[in-house]
Amino acid sequence: MEKISVCLRIRPLNQKEINDNEIIAWDANDSKIQLNKICLKELIAQKKVVNSLIYEFNHCYGQQADNYYLFSTSVKQVIMQSLDGINGTVIMYGQTGSGKTFTMLGKRNQEMLQNNNSNIQQLIKDSFANNQYNDVGILIYSMMELFKQINIDEKRQFEIKCSYYEIYNEFIYDLLREENELSEPLIFGTDYRKEFVIKNIKEFNVTSIEDVIACISKGEKNRHYAETILNHQSSRSHTIFKVLISAYSNESEEEENFTFSTEACINFIDLAGSEKITSSPISDDITRNSNRKDRNKESSAINKSLFFLTRVIALKTQKVPPQHIPYRNSTLTKLLKSSLTGNFKTLILLSINPGLSQYDQTQSTLRFGTSAK
Ligand code: ADP
Ligand code: MG
Repeated sequence: MEKISVCLRIRPLNQKEINDNEIIAWDANDSKIQLNKICLKELIAQKKVVNSLIYEFNHCYGQQADNYYLFSTSVKQVIMQSLDGINGTVIMYGQTGSGKTFTMLGKRNQEMLQNNNSNIQQLIKDSFANNQYNDVGILIYSMMELFKQINIDEKRQFEIKCSYYEIYNEFIYDLLREENELSEPLIFGTDYRKEFVIKNIKEFNVTSIEDVIACISKGEKNRHYAETILNHQSSRSHTIFKVLISAYSNESEEEENFTFSTEACINFIDLAGSEKITSSPISDDITRNSNRKDRNKESSAINKSLFFLTRVIALKTQKVPPQHIPYRNSTLTKLLKSSLTGNFKTLILLSINPGLSQYDQTQSTLRFGTSAK
């Protein structure tokens, strides 16, 4: 089984794009994504360099695919393996506005998070009943599956802990801190295996989907607060929801005699937008009302961490990965080190904007995906 899989999702055009007569540039089918002929002609007329017309990944999800379909055909495997002690990572990569957070948290995430989690089971039930499989995202579907699996496991008991944090300008901020407080960045330490760990990060025990929603909800409120006070857009930080799964098995016949058996963690990562700020039309939105110097600092931190992430993953995918992998070069790769060593499963979900006007950004996402295969 491959350790690193790369899938792609193309979102539909939104109303504004339709009103602006945006053209759909790509057709996704099974494992391929292809630039359509009309767009190719248009790009040639614009004197653009078109390197490749077809890209192939483990799976390419077209506009019809919903979050549940994506979960059951790709993410679920990561969850199932984690129960056997295999570390998992699910990475959302793509330009701002391409659908990363939609896939991770779902269409109704804001509503759901403000709901104070009292009705979440109902919301999920309703969305299933109404075939609304985009209401929640792959994170919730994953946690539902995890709880389902551990409930039917008669031989083992499990403990599940979550932490939620963001990396902004290479600093780590706890999203589960006390609500509406600004936090000092957290710092690295090492554990008994000499692995990088984040010192004093808050971890919450979760036993139900309601607990998980409470964590996400707290994190999103903190993020919103910091966004307002410090004027930093969430699309400029990497967000990581980490789930630590410890399994205890009962070797003896006696009840209550559970001993530690395996441990695995799953990192769900919603990366900062991959667009190059200086050349992107989105940059006008991002730079409006804000300080250019801050924005430049943000961009160089993002460029740096995406560059090293690409490098580390490209080295890991070589037939014989080199002895030395440069994890230390960025905060993100330091944090992912233990999830990319030994037995692991990483799923990269590329998300792309379908429009022809976004061709350059899309091509850069496709190139990243190709280097990670
Ligand atoms: P990102 O997190 O990559 O910046 P978002 O997830 O916020 O992008 O998506 C941008 C917009 O597009 C949102 O309004 C979102 O609701 C919409 N969107 C994204 N993916 C889809 C999809 N598959 N179907 C319908 N709308 C989508
Ligand atoms: Mg987002």
